[in-house]
Amino acid sequence: MASSFRNRPPARGHEVLLALGANVGNRRKTLRAAVERLGCWLTSLRASSLYLTAPRYVEDQPSFLNMAVCGRTMLSPFELLAVAQAIENGLGRIREQRYGPRTIDIDIIYYGSTIITAPRLVIPHPLRAERRFVLAPLAEIAPDFIDPVTGLTVRAMLEALPVQEGDCLRTGTLDLPPTTGGARSRS
Ligand code: AMP
Repeated sequence: MASSFRNRPPARGHEVLLALGANVGNRRKTLRAAVERLGCWLTSLRASSLYLTAPRYVEDQPSFLNMAVCGRTMLSPFELLAVAQAIENGLGRIREQRYGPRTIDIDIIYYGSTIITAPRLVIPHPLRAERRFVLAPLAEIAPDFIDPVTGLTVRAMLEALPVQEGDCLRTGTLDLPPTTGGARSRS
């Protein structure tokens, strides 16, 4: 495990990139609540637009709304995972089926250049490179972030993905207050 987080964190915290998705209930409301709660733990938070995504892996379920956020945190990777899971649980997420419907899903895609392969936590997220619904919103808010495994920027990884029609369509923004990335998301 490359563990820069074991040392004292940089003064402004570690840069983290997260992907969020929802396909049950009021998806916008849930995503907004999740971003607001993440705002308690991330500084310099920026939020992407929303993307409408056809379900993958398990196709017989409603479409997803996906988005990404980035920011800086003093939390360790495992603390950040615990926060993400507490937010998921607090918003009523029940895990019934792998890749099945979910009120909210929060994945840690990157934690700076840290690489972790632990039973409960893999960073960078192992499926990032095949997911337009992860890379497209990330490329909006952090296009030049360098993937520590491939050495490619997020933008280059997105460009390398084959285009599938209706794969992932930009569909507006959350109306967030400026303290939770709203200023960026409205620009
Ligand atoms: P999911 O049901 O897709 O949200 O998967 C949740 C499980 O993935 C949890 O048990 C986490 O411990 C695990 N996990 C592994 N790596 C990550 C990651 N980078 N971000 C979020 N959850 C992760």
